[in-house]
Amino acid sequence: MLRSFLIYLSKAAWAQNLVTNCGFAWKVASRFVAGTKITEALDVVKTLNAKGINATLDQLGEHTNNAEEANKSTEGILAVLDAIQAANVRSNVSIKLTQIGMGTDNDLCRANLLRIVERAKKYGNFVRIDIEDTPWTDLTIALYHDVLIKGYDTHTVGMAAQAYLYRADADIHKMLEEGITFRLVKGAYKEPPELAYPKKADVDANYDTLVSKLLDASLIQKTILSKDGRHPPIPGIATHDEKRIAFAKAYAEKIGLTREGFEFQMLYGIRRDLQENLCKEGYPMRVYVPFGTHWYPYFMRRLAERPANIWFFISNSFRK
Ligand SMILES: Cc1cc2nc3c(=O)[nH]c(=O)nc-3n(C[C@H](O)[C@H](O)[C@H](O)COP(=O)(O)OP(=O)(O)OC[C@H]3O[C@@H](n4cnc5c(N)ncnc54)[C@H](O)[C@@H]3O)c2cc1C
Repeated sequence: MLRSFLIYLSKAAWAQNLVTNCGFAWKVASRFVAGTKITEALDVVKTLNAKGINATLDQLGEHTNNAEEANKSTEGILAVLDAIQAANVRSNVSIKLTQIGMGTDNDLCRANLLRIVERAKKYGNFVRIDIEDTPWTDLTIALYHDVLIKGYDTHTVGMAAQAYLYRADADIHKMLEEGITFRLVKGAYKEPPELAYPKKADVDANYDTLVSKLLDASLIQKTILSKDGRHPPIPGIATHDEKRIAFAKAYAEKIGLTREGFEFQMLYGIRRDLQENLCKEGYPMRVYVPFGTHWYPYFMRRLAERPANIWFFISNSFRK
């Protein structure tokens, strides 16, 4: 119930105005958001890199309303790629297609995506397309394929998949056959029971099933992370769930997949202890580092994931 309500609020303009106008909201949100400027985000990436952790930078934004906003977001993402190159940090980028025109002008979105992927290719970098809610799943996969058809490969652009969706198994099966690998997440949106497992136990079980498929494929593909930590055409096991992580480790060991054959991914500000421990154990570790002024929907999804965050939020609202 609470989760659904918070996800509803994440899309409500009135709630956005209310929350973002409260000074304390940013104070709490900044636990999950690296800053509003790229310079602040790069400082976070440098600190992570110094610990041996790779990053993926996300210039926050989604559901832009018109071509002007979509183009502005695209310019921002191009500037992030430039900044990564200039700072020589171990980071790629993550983007959302509704940020660059999907839903308002799909041709513009495709053109913007190609511009971003071309810039990543120029620098030998990598673009991960985040997966949004189900009204956009088919289109996201179609636009991803359009980029591959244009000649870009999985070392330059990659996808994500959500284990809470019934369709994830078929999508992953099909794309693994095409040599595509994924960032696997549980899924952060509110989906109806016709499309997604309503029970957490079923999502967790499906997550493990899909992890085993990704790791089996990685064993055959034999790809490893690039030396500069940017290209991951290896599975991204993106979860903070210790049981899912333990399963992935044990399964990899069982099939004889080396630690370089996949990477763990987590969000900035969540389970830093686990991030550092996995890195020390020799597993490639990547942290998703979001930054920018459009932090509200991202922040609300993080609140929705863990009720305890709400009490943290409320208790901060009573402090000066
Ligand atoms: C790198 C990365 C990229 C992602 N990209 C996408 C995407 O493209 N599309 C998409 O739909 N979702 C994405 N997500 C979000 C994902 O779908 C989940 O909503 C999120 O990761 C929480 O699920 P979990 O796997 O950590 O498991 P859960 O069972 O939700 O959590 C396991 C444990 O992790 C900790 N935890 C989890 N979330 C929080 C939180 N918000 N605050 C504090 N502690 C927390 C808690 O200790 C919790 O007990 C991404 C997640 C990661 C890590």
